Parts: sequence; C-alpha cells; structure tokens
Amino acid sequence: MTERLDRARILAGQHGIDALLVTPGADLRYLTGYAAKPLERLTCLVVTQLRVQLVVPELERAAAEAAGVDMEIVTFGETDDPFALVADLVGNAEIVAVDDHMWASRVFALQEAMPEAGFVLGGQLVSDLRVVKEQSEVDALRAAGAAIDRVHARMGEWLRPGRTEREVGADIARAIIDEGHEQVDFVIVGSGPNGASPHHEVSDRVIQAGEPVVVDIGGTTPAGYCSDSTRNYVAGGEPDPGYVAMLEVLKQAQHAQREYARPGVTAESVDAVGRRIIAEAGYGDRFIHRTGHGIGQETHEEPYIVEGNGTELEPGMAFSIEPGIYVAGQWGARIEDIVVCTEDGIEVLNNTPRDLVRL
Ligand code: ZN
Ligand code: ZN
Ligand code: ZN
Repeated sequence: MTERLDRARILAGQHGIDALLVTPGADLRYLTGYAAKPLERLTCLVVTQLRVQLVVPELERAAAEAAGVDMEIVTFGETDDPFALVADLVGNAEIVAVDDHMWASRVFALQEAMPEAGFVLGGQLVSDLRVVKEQSEVDALRAAGAAIDRVHARMGEWLRPGRTEREVGADIARAIIDEGHEQVDFVIVGSGPNGASPHHEVSDRVIQAGEPVVVDIGGTTPAGYCSDSTRNYVAGGEPDPGYVAMLEVLKQAQHAQREYARPGVTAESVDAVGRRIIAEAGYGDRFIHRTGHGIGQETHEEPYIVEGNGTELEPGMAFSIEPGIYVAGQWGARIEDIVVCTEDGIEVLNNTPRDLVRL
C-alpha cells in the first residue's frame, strides 16, 4: 500500500470512519495515482481498516493497471451490480465516508446498498492529507510556476492595441501548452473595464492603447500540478495616473502579505495584512474577494486565505497570494503569486516583475 493510502486509512480510523469511498476526481488521483475518467460505470476506491481495494469495470482493469495502481483491483461485469459489490467489500460498517464530489446518484445507490450505515462526507479527511505537500509535489508546483512565468515573460509577442482579448487569449493558450503544460485551465484577459470583473475570461473587446489589462493564466503540467499567476499590463501608451496610484497600493499590499506569511500564522491573518493596506488607501470595498486559495492537483483547494479561516500555515502548504482592486466601469488590477510555506517563511514560485508591465 502506498504511504498516502496508509495515512488515509489511519486518519479514517482516528475519525471513526469504517470505510472511505472515493470515486474519480482529484482525491482518487491523489490517493492512487489513477486519473480515472468520471464515466457512467462505477470506479470506486474502497478504504477500510482491513484493506484497500479499487473497484473498476472489467473493461477498465488494464487502464487502472497501466496507471500503476498499487493495490488489489476488483472488477465487475457489464450486468453486475457494482454498488452491491462495494457494499460487500465494505462489510458491516457503521460510518461510511464518501468523497465530496461523488455523484448524488451514486451516493443514493450506495445508501440503498448499505441501509444500516451512516454516511458522512470524506472530503475533509483527504484534504487534510493533500493540504501539506510532499517534496515531490513542491518540486512539481515549482516547475508549473516556472512554466507560467515563461508565458507571462512572452506577453509582448501577443498583447497589442487593436487586437481583441480573444485573439490574445488564443495565443496565450497555445503558449501555456508550449511552455510545459499539458492542459490550459483558464485564460483571463481583462482589458479596461473588463479588468474590474475578477473572473472575466476573454471577449471580442478590442484592446485600446494605454489601457490596463489584467492577465490571469494557468494550466496543468504533465505531472498533474497546476499553475496560476496574474500580472498587469499596458500596451501602446501610458495609463491613467489614477490607475497607476491604485496599482502601487496593490503592490504594497501583496508585498506585505508575502513578507508576513510564514509557519504558525493563520490563513485569515495573511488576508488581513493586505486588506488593511488596501482599506487605508480608500479601496477597502473594492477588494471584493479573498486573498487566495490553496493549489496542487487542483487550482482551487485548501487552504483558503480568507477571513474566518483560522488554519495555521505549515511548511508544505501551497497557496496563492492574489489581492485585487476593482473599480467597476473603469479598470481592475490583481497581482498573484503561488507560494509554498517553508520552515521559516515562504518560497515564491512566480517571479516575473509585479510592476505594471509596459509593452
Ligand atoms: Zn479565481
Ligand atoms: Zn488564483
Ligand atoms: Zn489566478
């Protein structure tokens, strides 16, 4: 059994969970290394105190083996009932935990197959494992960060006045692959007023000379780890001084947060350090989202850097520091780095200039 599975089994025992059931998704991939597709036939990891087994359709045994799954694989045929099979493997469990993203149809089918068991969510348990990265995971995140930095460094090849956000975005997407990702997760090119919408993607708006452009991009590398970095650009002219002053405040806030983050401080206090600076400059109500999110095999995972999250940072936690200021109808700005908590501070995984980049 792999070390991760062993830790999952121990943690489950500590929480009084008799069986942990995990269907395809990031948790399954993390625990088994198997990036199974979420198809209509059931694939389900079954972790009990006695053993760990992977239930897969007969026709997918070869795929699971090819992924290097290191445990007993139990298959079922086209006309068998996979839920009865899982119930059989679980035995008489009192508490069954299911992954947070399991399809409702499967949860109900499992409940029907195990009418005596109580069902709880198992996502937190797996998240507690995933939140602290192993050295190999930190290395993979560092490579992802370097890959997205190379894309930002090439922005001058594509971002020009007279081109649409969509045209620029298509070029960026190609470069995300060319620079070492296997998949493009998102491309945000927010020009002028579109920059004021944090999750704007691209549009047919034509980029104007001298207007600020927010570029937030990320992908997944072949190792399965995600990148995510935001920088602010202006092409073909000078931006409004009001914007420049605002970006300066944002830069100070983001810098202060990077200086402050270290083991033992809470996630919410990292948020507060930046929010205070932005509020004192009069933009408090324009920082309309949390400071950041954890990152690993998923772009958004724990720990969330947000007010109310008293989680203390620990070495190995990876997360974004991405304060933003958004002035509806005018412009917006966000500066985003992925960082990893170390023994005495943080390692910053994105290292292109955080100043306004003039193209
Ligand atoms: Zn986001
Ligand atoms: Zn982010
Ligand atoms: Zn981002």
